[in-house]
Amino acid sequence: MTPQQRHHCMASIPSRNTKPEMVVRRFLHAHGLRYRIHVRRLPGTPDIVLRRYRTVIFVNGCFWHGHPCEAYRTPTTRTEFWSAKIARNQQRDLLQQAKLKRMGWHVIRIWECQLKPKVRQQTLQGLLHTLNHLLLVNYGAHPYTAAPDSPTPATLAAEEPMEYTTKKRVTD
Ligand SMILES: [Zn+2]
Repeated sequence: MTPQQRHHCMASIPSRNTKPEMVVRRFLHAHGLRYRIHVRRLPGTPDIVLRRYRTVIFVNGCFWHGHPCEAYRTPTTRTEFWSAKIARNQQRDLLQQAKLKRMGWHVIRIWECQLKPKVRQQTLQGLLHTLNHLLLVNYGAHPYTAAPDSPTPATLAAEEPMEYTTKKRVTD
């Protein structure tokens, strides 16, 4: 990131209705899912709230929330300042996530880098898949206890916060 890009990045944070967020919202809407946005009475003001799914979605910028991916680099100037700031953001994210879980919400976090054109479809299809499973879990048709021998879908960990992780890049 050049200083100019960083300035642009900082200036637009913490903005709502960001492009990545709109990508997710348009996708959900196109698939007939209905949601509320920026619900202030829930911890962390989730970007998207799907009541029927008991699920909240945060669409996170990689820099601001400290995603360990290639989009995130600790700035080379004022390094300590940024490190501390981002660490605080991460702590706050975890705290809010814990609160939401105690309130009975599933928490899904989607990272900006997972919505880049190349991986976007994969991410969004994975999201849809996860939501469908959560609906089953919520309504008591527990897919795992019903069929203990069936493999657990890789995209879902029902009792754990879900993180969409980027694929590890194979390095030479
Ligand atoms: Zn990222």
